[in-house]
Amino acid sequence: MSDRPVLHLRDRAAKALKDEQMRQAVRKAVDRLSGNKDKAARELPNWEEWREQTRLIREHTVDHLDYYLALLTQNIRKAGGKVHFASTAGEARQLIAKLCQQYEAKHIVKSKSMVTEEIHLNSALEAAGMEVVESDLAEYILQLAGETPSHIIVPAIHKNRYQIAELFSRVNGEKVEPDTPALTRFARKVLRDKFMNADVGITGCNFAVAETGSITLVTNEGNARLSTALPKVVITVMGMERIVPTFEDLETVLSMLPRSATGQKVTSYVSVINGPRQPGDIDGCEQFHLVIVDNGRSRILADEEYRAALHCIRCGACFNVCPVYRQIGGHAYGSVYGGPIGSVITPLLENDMVFWGELPYASTLCAACTFACPAKIPLQELLFNLRQKRVSAGHTDAVEKFAFGMWKRFFKLPSTYKFAMKAASLGQKPLVKNGYITAALPILANWTNSRYLPAAADKTFRDRWKKREK
Ligand code: SF4
Repeated sequence: MSDRPVLHLRDRAAKALKDEQMRQAVRKAVDRLSGNKDKAARELPNWEEWREQTRLIREHTVDHLDYYLALLTQNIRKAGGKVHFASTAGEARQLIAKLCQQYEAKHIVKSKSMVTEEIHLNSALEAAGMEVVESDLAEYILQLAGETPSHIIVPAIHKNRYQIAELFSRVNGEKVEPDTPALTRFARKVLRDKFMNADVGITGCNFAVAETGSITLVTNEGNARLSTALPKVVITVMGMERIVPTFEDLETVLSMLPRSATGQKVTSYVSVINGPRQPGDIDGCEQFHLVIVDNGRSRILADEEYRAALHCIRCGACFNVCPVYRQIGGHAYGSVYGGPIGSVITPLLENDMVFWGELPYASTLCAACTFACPAKIPLQELLFNLRQKRVSAGHTDAVEKFAFGMWKRFFKLPSTYKFAMKAASLGQKPLVKNGYITAALPILANWTNSRYLPAAADKTFRDRWKKREK
């Protein structure tokens, strides 16, 4: 899925912690987003019932995915569209590049799509000689900066308007003011031309409706609508699980998605496309292709312990409440999918518990993500299970193995436990000040450098209990 980063999670996080500008931008944005979400949740009567309904829809769909995929395919074909399945990222890249070549595409315009990030589509199309332009404002900024998204809903969350103005000024050859209207005016001017000249429009898919074969796209900028209405050929790329059975179900998930993501009651643009243009339609493409990407999802589907990860509606609410994401931002996760859900799905999609198995440790297991999730995915439970899976497979690092080995040895028997407590109480003496260990300890330095570690009590509970009984 992702190009593997060179650094390990610990080093990536340490690097991110030094980037004060990024941390400030992320903190400000997640506070605003989660505050808006809480307000939107309070405004909707029976929020918990809406969450439960969303969970039921997602669970039912994923449990019957084979049926709904077949129904969706049948209805898209009936409407004149073509459906392709890609079992790996490489297969998807090849397939889409071939389709673009078949239509002699030179210029491609894309709307925001995490699955195309996952399969690294842009570089494959560019290598095949095509110009690919991201039309979502944040994605366009990142494309110019040569960066990847750091949040699934707000991809450029780590950037402030001064950095964006600097970037646009460089592209423009003259100064673009660092205020929002000037920045959007600049992007609009550039992108308008790209839309008008695009041979192919490539989109993601928020939800596909199986009963009608409809593709739903939600944006706040209208770029998905232009990407699907202007080019003659449209290719929609969809993760295999992004389906809802009916339009009634779509209504529920579309009520929850914007509220959970940004606190909006409804997204500014909701576009529903049903295959290519039909006689009498005033706009729309002439050729429509849907590429359904597996890339590890079947493996997750087959595993009952982790299947709930496929219930995700990609709202980003879990990112916005995560105390770890808040500190390290999205790039430190090293994967296209960061935050709590990214820490769950990345090792599973990659089928790699060694390198990517580090990600479930990017969590305090506080469960804020689970409570924020509109689909009620038990994220902290899945993160905990993945840690267990990694440990059981023997992939723990040597220091951790040693520390817990010792802990087990001493805590196993009352006599060794007693001895350990006594030894800790005596051994810590030179490091203790006012009841806390304040000096840096070699293996605990990451903790004790920035926090006080409570010292072990002088007298153990057993000693005090014994004294009380006398
Ligand atoms: S796991 Fe839940 S909260 Fe996180 S992005 Fe998915 S649906 Fe939203």
